[in-house]
Amino acid sequence: MLVNLEINRKNLEKNLGKIRSINKNIICVIKDNAYGLGIENIFPILLENSCNYFAVAYIEEAIKIREILKNFEKEKKLDFLKNRQIKIMALNYIEPENFKYVIENNVEVTVFNFLQLYDYLKILDKSFENTALKIHIKVNSGMNRLGFNESEILKLIEVIKKYEKNHKNNKLEIISIFSHVSDAENQIETETQVEKYEKIIKIFDKSDVKYQYKHLQASPLLFKYKEKYNYDFARVGMALYGMEPLSYDTGLADVITVKSQIINIRNVKKNDKISYGSKGIVKRDSKIGIVSVGYAHGFQKQIENSLQAYVLVNGKKAKIIGEICMDMIFVDLTDIENVKVNDEVVIIGSQKNIENEITEKITLRQVAKWAGTIQDDVLTKFSAIKKQ
Ligand SMILES: *Cc1c(COP(=O)(O)O)cnc(C)c1O
Repeated sequence: MLVNLEINRKNLEKNLGKIRSINKNIICVIKDNAYGLGIENIFPILLENSCNYFAVAYIEEAIKIREILKNFEKEKKLDFLKNRQIKIMALNYIEPENFKYVIENNVEVTVFNFLQLYDYLKILDKSFENTALKIHIKVNSGMNRLGFNESEILKLIEVIKKYEKNHKNNKLEIISIFSHVSDAENQIETETQVEKYEKIIKIFDKSDVKYQYKHLQASPLLFKYKEKYNYDFARVGMALYGMEPLSYDTGLADVITVKSQIINIRNVKKNDKISYGSKGIVKRDSKIGIVSVGYAHGFQKQIENSLQAYVLVNGKKAKIIGEICMDMIFVDLTDIENVKVNDEVVIIGSQKNIENEITEKITLRQVAKWAGTIQDDVLTKFSAIKKQ
């Protein structure tokens, strides 16, 4: 593949340090294949930086982590893992048919409604003995996505107590009560949601149900309010990968660079059409470069609607013109000298110019703006690109 994505390990570590300076206890969120960067690339870096707690979306991702750990052990790369317990929490829905993998791989599951809880307990009792199911209870503080409502908490407590009383054989271990804040930059909304969370916590605290931890922060809440809502953990994803969690810059370091190359150069006349359809009419006699990147690589088609979008060639801006194709784009090289086929093109990141200086940079946030979307959406869509 002519497109590749480079992961800057040093900058990832820098971001980790910045996050830890606010909350030293973090659950590293590596869901959805580490936001598209590859669990196999990101997990070892975090592991080597003393991270012990990880959050995934799916059971397959938890299994993958356990496999990586087993291979580490086999290859005796393992000294730094001695006396460390690596915990995995699943944030998304684990279907009952995958329940056995939960137990086999020591995965802590998120429980967010009664149906799911009943299903899990039924399978636990039917197929296991002397086994603990570790759960994180998700409560709804206002996002209305997953989680028990405040009005359901007393019933939930009853269900848990009843289970504890009647099942000496298997155990329900409540690792945490947690929630997710949906609008961190809106202070009134955030405070309302935090209050709701606190209120639910109080109901648990008044009962005999025991749980270990509380956690609320994701990247936006962490960076907006700093230590204020630290609780026991911060669950952090985007900030690790260098995505700015707030509307203003917090100084996170860029972690990814996406590069491709020019595969063809041609001269066209003023008013000639380029690419599919009739959007791409050149306004002057032009030198056009064809770059091997397109929507199949995750470079979103919608970017063609922005008149601002560009890539970097010889460290200079080369505007994208015409429709974005499956694996190619057209860029304007008219004002850039000394360009040849095979030259490197930077899609995200920075590039030296012919004076060996860096004057231009394309951020994930910039590309997201061109595409009319958010950084996470741009990043996760690069999932299929080769990483190095
Ligand atoms: C994805 C996710 C996170 C991580 O959020 P970031 O904003 O990427 O740090 C935390 N908690 C939950 C429940 C999530 O789904």
